[in-house]
Amino acid sequence: MNREPVDRALFDEVMVPNYAPGTIIPVRGEGSRVWDQDGREFVDLAGGIAVTALGHAHPGLVGALTEQAGKLWHLSNVMTNEPALRLARTLCELTFAERIFFANSGGEANEAAFKLARRYAWEHFGPEKNEIISFRSSFHGRTLFTVSVGGQPKYTEGFEPAPGGIVHADFNDLASVKALISERTCAIVVEPIQGEGGIMPGDPEFLKGLRALCDQYNALLVFDEVQTGVGRTGHLYAYQMYGVTPDILSTAKSLGGGFPVGAMLTTAAIATSLGVGTHGSTYGGNPLACAVAQKVIDTVSQPEILKGVSQRSDRLRKGMLTIGKKYDVFSEVRGAGLLLGGVLTDAWKGKAKEFLNAGLDEGVMVLIAGPNVIRLAPSLIIPESDIDEALTRFERAVSKLCA
Ligand SMILES: *Cc1c(COP(=O)(O)O)cnc(C)c1O
Repeated sequence: MNREPVDRALFDEVMVPNYAPGTIIPVRGEGSRVWDQDGREFVDLAGGIAVTALGHAHPGLVGALTEQAGKLWHLSNVMTNEPALRLARTLCELTFAERIFFANSGGEANEAAFKLARRYAWEHFGPEKNEIISFRSSFHGRTLFTVSVGGQPKYTEGFEPAPGGIVHADFNDLASVKALISERTCAIVVEPIQGEGGIMPGDPEFLKGLRALCDQYNALLVFDEVQTGVGRTGHLYAYQMYGVTPDILSTAKSLGGGFPVGAMLTTAAIATSLGVGTHGSTYGGNPLACAVAQKVIDTVSQPEILKGVSQRSDRLRKGMLTIGKKYDVFSEVRGAGLLLGGVLTDAWKGKAKEFLNAGLDEGVMVLIAGPNVIRLAPSLIIPESDIDEALTRFERAVSKLCA
């Protein structure tokens, strides 16, 4: 019964219609290549939305997963476990953090981050200090709290009443933050590079300014590094590239390389505000997830891997710029490392999805970030020959679109 063939048409019969998946159904991946049900092969520049940081079926990750799978899958947080302790220690060694909370997704890591920011302010300054400043076009997840902090009204529409105490400023506009900040502000929440909002890098001066404002107003600076973290920018975390240290950082996506896991990183002093019983998760810190994430972090944090991200970034960016010029489709290619966005020229505004679909027709998977940006977030170890092949295929797709 459960072995009967399935196809894309079944999606519309058995799934809630909140997604609009493409027509192909991938069944296997290896490195940066993916094959669908019909054996058609694709070069993957999407990386499962910046998740499969070491490509598909990476032998080290398969090894870490299967080894842990034969030992112990789950305990709950009534007990701690070795993989979680090791991973937390590693994250503390490699970052500003002194304390870690594990979750299962980016949204949950942010939920923990926002709750901690509120709780910390409540404990130290009283209940009036509860306001969160975040940014228009930002994205922080799909729970009701995280969509409300996120700066895209279409994601809260119809789900009201939304949680209160949240105001939105303009990204890269320090004056708009100054106009909103007060002693009531408990936190500023920001993606160092806005991902879903169109691969928009934060200006270094802007992020430094947020740090200074937080210090001035006793507010916590929260970096959402769910998309920018784990080597994506050529640095383990983007805050290290900017030289601006947050008080709380959320990480997920690439952290598990495809296994669901998220984490919130913070300092020892702030962490005390999440005392026993204040927050929790059944699966968070699950041994399977942590064993896989450990392998991801151990691999990605190696200097030669991070250096490789910058080399690959140059190659991919150059190739995209060349295509952009030749066909007059991109006005710029922005982002950092292997999180790049080709910004469509006015003539192509609103048509990003057409590029995604044309790419699939030619055997290359790309992403979009809103209607105007082609987003690339491939494996951090994608072979350079796969980058070249992907660019060849993408150019073919673009040339057909432009024909
Ligand atoms: C993807 C993303 C999230 C949400 O992560 P989920 O794992 O889907 O809950 C939050 N913040 C940013 C910046 C993201 O890119």
